[in-house]
Amino acid sequence: MRIILLGPPGAGKGTQAVRIAEAYGIPHISTGDILRANVKGGTPLGTEAKRYMDAGDLVPDDVIVGMVGDRLEQPDATEGFLLDGFPRTVPQARSLEDLLVERETPLSVVLRLSVAKDEVVQRLTGRRTCADCGRIFHLVHDPPSEAHRCDECGGELQQRDDDREDVVLNRLEVYAAQTEPLEHFYWERGLLRDVEAVGSPDEVFASARAILDEYDPASRG
Ligand code: AMP
Repeated sequence: MRIILLGPPGAGKGTQAVRIAEAYGIPHISTGDILRANVKGGTPLGTEAKRYMDAGDLVPDDVIVGMVGDRLEQPDATEGFLLDGFPRTVPQARSLEDLLVERETPLSVVLRLSVAKDEVVQRLTGRRTCADCGRIFHLVHDPPSEAHRCDECGGELQQRDDDREDVVLNRLEVYAAQTEPLEHFYWERGLLRDVEAVGSPDEVFASARAILDEYDPASRG
């Protein structure tokens, strides 16, 4: 299974990606997570990326494409993968397409999580992430039992710098301008499928799974 998860910031890509990757036994490759790990580790890549991320702007295509190319070379990605947060621009999508043609491993499906814009703002500004294990909470929809503490590991819950309201609004504009054109790109290739990202994470996952099973050789028997 080679899957791309598409959808605006706040559609629940991160939450669904973890479940999908586990259900289909494929690595979850999140460019945002890789970049944040580099920022945290103080690497040259992280230092370069941070100023774009803090403003809610996109990191330049060549940086991202090189990073994803390296990640897809890892042994765990040879049998399949779930890309979350990549591609974000048409040039990124074209580079990925070239890479996959070269490897003779075409995409299985592009799953788009769709959600209304005002809902997205509310979701993102209430999002809190565990600094230690990465588990995601929401102050309204999925609050931790103890304020600021992760239920899973006791780590400290933090708001991502780019989940502040002004940055969220910019990220949505960037999505509309740069990433929405990808929907047409994949629709033209017959790869685009839609999931309404409303309801509980379990409900959204059930809808996603019903679609993904159609593309899974193991489920088809
Ligand atoms: P995410 O966690 O996917 O929302 O990504 C957080 C931030 O990382 C984005 O707002 C961008 O600044 C940067 N980023 C992540 N993925 C990409 C990508 N494919 N292209 C460019 N920038 C990216």
